[in-house]
Amino acid sequence: DLGYMTSEKAYRVVLAGDAAVGKSSFLLRLCKNEFRGNTSATLGVDFQMKTLVVDGEPTLLQLWDTAGQERFRSIAKSYFRRADGVLLLYDVTCEKSFLNVREWVDMIEDVSQDDIPIMLVGNKCDLREQALQDRVTCVPTSFGEKLAMTYNALFCETSAKDGSNVIEAVLHLAREVIKQV
Ligand code: GDP
Repeated sequence: DLGYMTSEKAYRVVLAGDAAVGKSSFLLRLCKNEFRGNTSATLGVDFQMKTLVVDGEPTLLQLWDTAGQERFRSIAKSYFRRADGVLLLYDVTCEKSFLNVREWVDMIEDVSQDDIPIMLVGNKCDLREQALQDRVTCVPTSFGEKLAMTYNALFCETSAKDGSNVIEAVLHLAREVIKQV
């Protein structure tokens, strides 16, 4: 993939969301089609390039991970300032990460010029069945859908582990981004 070595325009997509919701894993699945059970150490990269075919057009995306910087608001803000679109992740097995979505949206809307497209992503949906058996409450899909609607955001549930919906989520967001830019 030499796309980014040319002068071709790359759309900037930033991953947001609490620590441990699966941002690095999501990127690893998307870009390398891999999953690692333990990604406690960051991948050591600021961004990954990925070309997706969106409606027949090869489209270059520059995907930024805010890895490890969730706590450093000022740094995170600088990522959003120049973003064309945002993938905002929460963990469906972690209510706190869902409740914090609001803060992330506020921050994104605070720093970005226009209404940038946001894809709200409920990640780790592969854990739902087990959680049900363990009587652990998960964030229901309908809650995610409703929250996304209030922010005029897109919504989907994914698993970086089994790969479900990962490419679809990014494709869907990319379509919106291309419409707006
Ligand atoms: P980040 O801090 O948001 O970048 O989160 P990580 O990508 O480091 O993921 C945190 C932990 O959750 C790691 O142990 C991952 O292996 C795990 N994880 C990430 N995505 C998924 C998923 O979709 N399903 C499951 N079961 N585990 C996941």
